[in-house]
Amino acid sequence: MFKVQALAYDQDALEPIIGAGTMEVHYGKHYAGYTTKLNAALEGHADLQEKSITDLLSNLEELPSDIKTAVRNNGGGYLNHTIFFDIMGPASEVSEQPEGDLLEAIEDGFGSVEDLQDEFNAAAKGRFGSGWAWLVVNAEGELEVMDTPNQDNPVMLGDYTPILGLDVWEHAYYLDYQNDRGGYVESWWQIVDWDKVTARYEAATK
Ligand code: MN
Repeated sequence: MFKVQALAYDQDALEPIIGAGTMEVHYGKHYAGYTTKLNAALEGHADLQEKSITDLLSNLEELPSDIKTAVRNNGGGYLNHTIFFDIMGPASEVSEQPEGDLLEAIEDGFGSVEDLQDEFNAAAKGRFGSGWAWLVVNAEGELEVMDTPNQDNPVMLGDYTPILGLDVWEHAYYLDYQNDRGGYVESWWQIVDWDKVTARYEAATK
């Protein structure tokens, strides 16, 4: 059974960037809903229940056809939200800038952290409808910005390991920003916990 990952911070700790009301619905209802529906889709498939979520989503074509769409949507929703809620923290507590090997890789790949943020923000703002923006490590160990529709995760598209993800579904920002997705995207960096992103980068490149 897949489980909702506990938050490392209080539901109101991301204020005012993400309000407690948004967290209550987003973490408490949407993320929990994807998790419940993923588990329901895998019921009776003991072999699949033993796999990691990354394994399941990387090999969707191998799934029985009657559960493929449910695993894609709800398994994607599960993994995406697990990453999203993990890599954030209170603005006053998070490390504000990447350091070390990750900083070096960002500078090699994009020029600077600001250049990365510009490219990422453009992907997040430009994704039409519901979806996600990502910073991923590709098969060559290099960083790339990408975006995906709906609850698709980069692992569905090839040998990519997402290390940072931003939810641009309206449920992620409408209570706090209404239709101003750009304001949400730009403010969001204040609550990105670069220590968490660094840990994911190191796991992906070791
Ligand atoms: Mn969401």
